Amino acid sequence: MQVIREFDPWDGKLCTCPDKYSLNPYTGCDHRCIYCYATYIPNFFRPRRKKDLVERVKKDLKKIPESSLISLSNSSDPYLKMDKEYKDTRRCLKVLKKNGMKILVVTKGVHVKRDIDILKRADCAVTVSLCTIDEEVKKKLEPNAPSPKKRLEIIRQLVKEDIPTGVRFDPIFPELTEQEIPEIVKKISETGAKHVVSSTLKLRGDSWKKLKLAFPEKAQELEKEYFKEGEKIDNSRYLPEEKRLHILKKVVEECEEEGLSFGTCREGFPSLTTPNSCDGSHLFE
Ligand code: SF4
Repeated sequence: MQVIREFDPWDGKLCTCPDKYSLNPYTGCDHRCIYCYATYIPNFFRPRRKKDLVERVKKDLKKIPESSLISLSNSSDPYLKMDKEYKDTRRCLKVLKKNGMKILVVTKGVHVKRDIDILKRADCAVTVSLCTIDEEVKKKLEPNAPSPKKRLEIIRQLVKEDIPTGVRFDPIFPELTEQEIPEIVKKISETGAKHVVSSTLKLRGDSWKKLKLAFPEKAQELEKEYFKEGEKIDNSRYLPEEKRLHILKKVVEECEEEGLSFGTCREGFPSLTTPNSCDGSHLFE
């Protein structure tokens, strides 16, 4: 296949996602999140279009089972600034819908609003990513992504349009956004979204360098937690297991209080995931 691929997060042993396919309408991303896990792709922060995208999507769809779950996007964002002009994501959604696919949209881009008309009529769920509601912290973590306020507004709007909507409260930064957990879960609940997916920050070489530069006052503590006490799993540095469990349990407690279902992403705590899916795919049911 050319542009639709089996979802395979680097054979990650902690991944609990159901079988699904992945489609990135664009290569690269311009939100420039300093924690991005996809920067192994060359020139990642200079996004570009894919040649003959729609024709290649149509060809690939002939090779996969009917009603497959297709996630847009796992190594980019389907709603980049350039998509306002090119509308490649909209073109893909139309083809996927016409072919009866289940569509899982994962985005920080608020112009998903443009495609509500298609999403409403498709077998579809949307998860909007949000890792802080502090605008100043956001500027350092996700310099070019829409503001948290705008993302909360779009979640509210998707819910109002009866589109199954969850939130990726992800990643959670120890010592930095951890203290925002109660407020963020409360804000998510107020939007009407029903599901939260969370994970703690995983570090790779380039993200650690950027994080140190952005938050020098936290560098010493983070270095201790990730590189002395933490562990390496699937090419990323993780916090120590008890610390991850502590952070995620806080999210679970807040979600329970608000009546939200909860899942973790690549954490290895299946008992924390209720009811059934980590990525929000149960929202289709
Ligand atoms: S939105 Fe996702 S793909 Fe884009 S830079 Fe941020 S983490 Fe990376």
